[in-house]
Amino acid sequence: MEDNSAQMSPKRKRRIRRIRKFIFIGFPIIFISELALCIFLIARLNVLHRNLNRAKDEINAYLEMQSEWDFKESIRAGAEENILPASPVPVTDNPSENKADSKKESQQVLNPEEVKNLTLSNEELYDGYRKVYLTFDDGPSANTTAILDILKRYDVKATFFVIRREGRNNEKIYRRIVDEGHTLGMHSNTHEYSVCYASEEAFKNDTLTLRDFLYLVTGVESNVYRFPGGSSNRVSPVDVKLFANILHESGIEYYDWNVSAGDAVYPLPDADTIYRNVVNGIMNYDESIVLLHDLPSKKSTLEALPRIIEFIKSLDNTVILPITDSTVPIQHLIVNDNK
Ligand SMILES: [Zn+2]
Repeated sequence: MEDNSAQMSPKRKRRIRRIRKFIFIGFPIIFISELALCIFLIARLNVLHRNLNRAKDEINAYLEMQSEWDFKESIRAGAEENILPASPVPVTDNPSENKADSKKESQQVLNPEEVKNLTLSNEELYDGYRKVYLTFDDGPSANTTAILDILKRYDVKATFFVIRREGRNNEKIYRRIVDEGHTLGMHSNTHEYSVCYASEEAFKNDTLTLRDFLYLVTGVESNVYRFPGGSSNRVSPVDVKLFANILHESGIEYYDWNVSAGDAVYPLPDADTIYRNVVNGIMNYDESIVLLHDLPSKKSTLEALPRIIEFIKSLDNTVILPITDSTVPIQHLIVNDNK
């Protein structure tokens, strides 16, 4: 065979060498640097995404702190009669005089299924008891799963005010909330204030979209709601009372809180502080709706939860219940109306 290379001009040979050089050295360098750039940009995007979520949490924390502050101010202004009485439940040493104890007696003749039904729907069973409603906002997340494990360990039912998060893992969490006897509440479809509070129509769409989504996933139609930032939030451009009317027209009741774990703020308080916030708050009321959060960042809340439950369980005539139709709502909006 004839050697073609011998016939090539030096100029052509140089060009072929350059092309070979590019293929074996230049191309890999370009490929590797492009790959490195991609990896860098993906990492940067993840950091920005985390920062964005953190900024959203901070906005939520700020708004929820404001709601809390408004609520406390209203109480200081003498409006406490518009919410629940703050006197502790009287407990006598003599069991025969103790109404709550006699209720306990009557429980014992019921079969476990009847007791379970009564626990979930008939709060009259606990007349005379101090009632504590543990509520968790902003889930589902990995923390929700850990919280569900803790609640299961202590045989305690709570209320989860959730937003819409798709994906199999999240759907499992929504179902687990329902299957394990907790109350599935709504906390807006996206928790984006600019979306859910944009107008009356937007609020209705947002709420009913979440309700339909939860119904599809769990088979349960949620009828309890917590406003993002509370009903006394200052971010909504529309009067929240109009949103409250929309909820009521749809057969949904809304619940704020009178005890806060203080876990919405940055930096997140330690577990001891969260524990103290909750137990001190509970001791002020016959009925406490406790605000806690189950975002993945709320590690201290998770750490404090077993101690909080153990403390409540150690109190006489005190019961932890999930919010149901028969739970008396605590609504900041009503308090503010009476300012
Ligand atoms: Zn929230």
